[in-house]
Amino acid sequence: MDNTRDTSVGNKYLILLFLGLIVLGCKDNPKPQIEQEEVAILEDPEPLTEFGFKLDNYIVKRDTIRKGDTFGVILERNNVGYPKIFNIAEKAKDTFDIARSLQVGKPYTLLCEKDSLETAKCFIYQPNLEDYVVINFQDSIQAYRSTKPIKYVEKEATGIIEDNISLTLEEQGLSPRLAYKMADEIFAWTIDFRRLQKGDRFKVIYTDKYIDDTIYTGVHNVKAAYFEHNNEPFYAFEFMTDTTKGIIDYFNEEAKNLRRAFLKAPVKFSRISSRYNLKRRIAVYGYRVRAHRGTDFAAPIGTPIMATANGTVTESRRRGGNGNYVKIRHNATYETQYLHMSKRLVKVGDFVKQGDIIGKVGMTGNTGGPHVCYRFWKNGKQVDPFKQKLPEAKPISDSLKVKYLEFIQPIKHQLDNINFKPQITEEEPQTVIYQSNS
Ligand SMILES: [Zn+2]
Repeated sequence: MDNTRDTSVGNKYLILLFLGLIVLGCKDNPKPQIEQEEVAILEDPEPLTEFGFKLDNYIVKRDTIRKGDTFGVILERNNVGYPKIFNIAEKAKDTFDIARSLQVGKPYTLLCEKDSLETAKCFIYQPNLEDYVVINFQDSIQAYRSTKPIKYVEKEATGIIEDNISLTLEEQGLSPRLAYKMADEIFAWTIDFRRLQKGDRFKVIYTDKYIDDTIYTGVHNVKAAYFEHNNEPFYAFEFMTDTTKGIIDYFNEEAKNLRRAFLKAPVKFSRISSRYNLKRRIAVYGYRVRAHRGTDFAAPIGTPIMATANGTVTESRRRGGNGNYVKIRHNATYETQYLHMSKRLVKVGDFVKQGDIIGKVGMTGNTGGPHVCYRFWKNGKQVDPFKQKLPEAKPISDSLKVKYLEFIQPIKHQLDNINFKPQITEEEPQTVIYQSNS
């Protein structure tokens, strides 16, 4: 399921803009204390089970693999003799290569006999948070792999963008990952997050992932989101368009793909230092009109420059004021061009995909500082990419559209019924939507 694009952290703009978050539905409000009469009823506590074993039946020893530890060394330390160790390793080898698979720093658990010798009876190794390997040798020797129970909890959150905001994001218990998901994966093509307005607001339905009920591993996915930018509403619903390949995309309430054939910017985490402007006046040119037909994105030298859409490289060279530049033809209508590079990484004829790195930011040619001048060509003329109605990345098929519209109906209803005002809830309104059994 985790085939969403990787997003890196560090978007300063976002951190600033998302700090006015108000979380609905995932606050740790203590449950009201109910006074009880003191009656001494001793109940058997629920026996603690982990890895499918009742831990009460054993002496449980937990440790991590250290330098020099081998399966044999660990077992020998815990009173298992060598012939038996050899036997166990032989029997377990089809499931788990004991000699090679133990990594320093990974946790393991030994279940030992409850007697004075504390002889090991079972070895459990955890290569990661979710998976574990059991080598059980209390009676016959068994080795198998298993997975800890995973739980996805659905949550709702709302936020109002303010300009003067403090670091409350984490205090509110809302993962910054949620902000990145919305800005970089869902609304990246429809909303310019560099230009959010005070009062812009959003609602989001998402799921958090937990292992073993307790280990929080972060935001798993965003199911639906609503963003109000300049009083204009934008809906986004997660939908799997290809169940065999597991392809997930976001569409709006009219089943239009939110991704566009073009990225909004050729560099991540940049600042627009100069927009497309046909009437620009510049001091060095005596304040005469010098039209700027590109959009300048200021970024440090060496910052990777991405192709904003799939296409074929038609020019890659150094010339005059452009410095090092690359030009890409995307289709019969559109071309893009990237100027002042310190380094070009593609050559004429190369086919590039959206997001591919084609060069590095520099200041070759006519430029006062490191930036990439991004030029957007439509039918051979330079236009402002921010004013274009850009084509959808991949429209939903007609047959899926009906399914989609039916699918989002209850979700949209849920989204529309979330209030923006912060609510104090007595109990955490969470819905476990999926729970695996180990
Ligand atoms: Zn420029």
